[in-house]
Amino acid sequence: MPGKPTPMMQQYLALKREAGDALLFYRMGDFFELFFEDAKVAAGVLDIALTTRGEHDGEPVPMCGVPVHSAEGYLARLIKGGCRVAIAEQTETPEQAKERAKREGTPVSKALVARDIVRFVTAGTLTEEALLEPRRANLLVAVAPVRDGVGLAACDISTGRMELEECDPQALDAALARLGASEVVAPEDWDAAPPEVIARPRADFRSEDGETRLKNIHGIATLDGLGTFTRPMLAAVAGLIAYLDHAGRGTLPFLLPPVARGSGAHLAMDAATRTSLEILEAQSGGRTGSLIACVDRCSTGAGARQLAEDLAAPLAERGAIEERLASVQHFHADPLLRADLRAVLRQAPDIGRALGRLVAGRGSPRDLGQIRDGLAEARRVRDMLAASSDRPALLARMSDALGGHAALVDHLARALVPSPPTERSQGGFIASGYDHSLDALRETSGNARKAIAALEAKYREETKTPSLKIKHNKVLGYFIEVPAKHGDKLMAADSGFTHRQTMAGAVRFNSVGLHEEASRIAEAGAHALAAEETHFDRLVGEVIDAREAIAATAAALARIDVSAALAERAAEGDWTRPEILDEPCLEVSGGRHPVVEQALAKTGERFVANDCTLGPDDRLWLIGGPNMGGKSTFLRQNALIMLLAQAGSFVPATKARIGLADRLFSRVGASDNLARGRSTFMVEMVETAAILSQATERSFVILDEVGRGTSTYDGMALAWAVVEAVHEQLRCRCLFATHYHELSRLADTCDALSLHHVRAREWKGDLVLLHELARGAADRSYGLSVAKLAGVPAPVIKRAKAVLDKLEKGREATGGLAAGLGELPLFAVTAQMEEAEEDPLHAAVEAIDVDSLSPREALETLYALKAQAAATDA
Ligand code: ADP
Repeated sequence: MPGKPTPMMQQYLALKREAGDALLFYRMGDFFELFFEDAKVAAGVLDIALTTRGEHDGEPVPMCGVPVHSAEGYLARLIKGGCRVAIAEQTETPEQAKERAKREGTPVSKALVARDIVRFVTAGTLTEEALLEPRRANLLVAVAPVRDGVGLAACDISTGRMELEECDPQALDAALARLGASEVVAPEDWDAAPPEVIARPRADFRSEDGETRLKNIHGIATLDGLGTFTRPMLAAVAGLIAYLDHAGRGTLPFLLPPVARGSGAHLAMDAATRTSLEILEAQSGGRTGSLIACVDRCSTGAGARQLAEDLAAPLAERGAIEERLASVQHFHADPLLRADLRAVLRQAPDIGRALGRLVAGRGSPRDLGQIRDGLAEARRVRDMLAASSDRPALLARMSDALGGHAALVDHLARALVPSPPTERSQGGFIASGYDHSLDALRETSGNARKAIAALEAKYREETKTPSLKIKHNKVLGYFIEVPAKHGDKLMAADSGFTHRQTMAGAVRFNSVGLHEEASRIAEAGAHALAAEETHFDRLVGEVIDAREAIAATAAALARIDVSAALAERAAEGDWTRPEILDEPCLEVSGGRHPVVEQALAKTGERFVANDCTLGPDDRLWLIGGPNMGGKSTFLRQNALIMLLAQAGSFVPATKARIGLADRLFSRVGASDNLARGRSTFMVEMVETAAILSQATERSFVILDEVGRGTSTYDGMALAWAVVEAVHEQLRCRCLFATHYHELSRLADTCDALSLHHVRAREWKGDLVLLHELARGAADRSYGLSVAKLAGVPAPVIKRAKAVLDKLEKGREATGGLAAGLGELPLFAVTAQMEEAEEDPLHAAVEAIDVDSLSPREALETLYALKAQAAATDA
């Protein structure tokens, strides 16, 4: 029979309603408990035991729990698992609850401790050191569609950085891809919202509110001093701050003044390009194998976060790029300075994040210690830079932001012990000598402790009981304990001891003397704790007052770290400073793919460097040659070199002259991804369409085997048309890799197009891939050799060879004329088959050993069969 829910269950259900779809962590003593669906979800993600507790509506209630002291680790896993968590804390002690019950006239025995949700823990609103990845920014993004534009407000609340921008609705995916947010919020009534956004009330996204909140937070009368912010940007700010308010239950985290991002300042890249170039994440998922993993030599987490941002949003403005390059060069030219500086940086704590926690009211004494040490290291960095001559402008500016904290550092150094604890409730973080009254209190409790030790000796002597001990526990405080057999001695009425407790093997007592000393300790301890609390609050206040200068120091340290790290990487890999130009060229001598080169080096193989010389008269390279010959690698290495250069890095080449690009596009033909089941021909065409509509004369496009995802004819025709469009209409720089031999005829009609191929040789019947780029069309297709290299069984290869011979003879016989392709000078692999004694298609199918084929080989075989079938039909 379903009964009335218990008062606790009623309280739980009310809190759960408030928590919405966040998991509710319901505090019960030393545990956070989860119930119902929440318990099932959490038990699954955390892999912990699911039990039950009581009944609700006649059903047992599923339950699981995590200990409060280790809750952070569990929270981290839940957040990683895509959950959001509402923390419901006890807001009074059981004693207070009883007092309240007495006042309210309710039964004291049933007094229920009041609870309240104190915070929502969500992926985008974390500040805890343990929950954040040191080398990754953690962004919360609010998106607000307003009329024709979309406003974006992105904020890393662990450091307070906030950036606003406005984009076209079509460019939203690209912007979100660049930001890589942990959490995105948007108005609930927005139909076109990207997937996985968290829906928030429309009323949260009012631009006037955004403006007012910014003014209030930063104590300014107008936003004009901060930059130009549009209505959509401000609407997004409003949504962002409203969400932070909700998550923090009214306590806002640290927010720096927002920076407006202009649309033309950065090299634009869409989501597909980012994925294909594996900038921050490899396609296999994770950092390993990505560009950043290969480039990152930063000494600090903040530096690594800055580098990730630089690579995700390279610049499109020459002055700013040159500034960064000059700064890298400064460290490149001075290995000693670089080594010393990096050693100092490695010691520097993450002051940006420590500051974020302190301002958000979640700071600890350890965070204060980090600010102290970080600012001190910043001063050392400044001194080191001051000593080096001809500092470039960027470094000089950064240096200036490093100083100016002398008084604060000095104060923190005097006030705090060398390594302050993360827990502040136990005290012990204020240094001795800082506050004389605190020292006196500590001395009092120290003396009392000594007095207790003396008492123990005295009582042993007096009672002739060497096994007598004075002990301490949470429940009794200090007490005297003797083994049971000596108990009677102390029980005597005139012994001076009062009995407290009899245990199985021991008896416990108190004495007037002990009580006095214990009270002295307790009283002095409580006063000392209170004094430390007061000091803590005052020190935090001082740090908060200096927050903008501290944040500027943190940003300067990160930028300096990035420059030194890029110099280190350049020295390590023999990279060179690119020359940045305005004309649309891309001249790279001895270019290498940094990630592939590094991977090859691990197995002792050498990467073959290749040149690229795109310019106004030769802006489209058509690259042929066998599969696995290095076409993709060449395309990508040039895109990455451009990206690195515009991010302000040296590049893996012996010489590079790079004309600034406004956009970078990278596309890979569908079949290359088919084995992963990711891409379809449709996706490929949608992505190609995006290039054709967005690329400009200043863009750089790499197209890898576009047109492969469909039948040979369609694909070839599409590839043909795309190349023509790139050449005639877009007129951008482009590298186009294709295995369609036939496209080489385009060189006859397109004057800024040239033919290239990756070289290969047959040696003793085997194919040797040289990974070397050469001018001219590939002399022939190496499909069969590659198939052999890939392990296609010999009978199939042999049979294919026979078929190929016939096909080629047929082609010669017809003069290589394409049939039925109208005006296009398209020479397909069509051929009229000679009369065959047996049906070759049938034979080829027979020869296939299906079980020995990989999905990729199977696909290639299918293509071959299809081509053969087409040829037979023709
Ligand atoms: P394709 O696009 O022509 O099929 P890839 O670019 O995918 O070929 O290259 C295939 C493999 O060949 C790469 O994974 C790499 O191991 C090797 N490779 C490519 N380019 C080079 C190079 N320049 N030097 C050495 N090895 C290379």
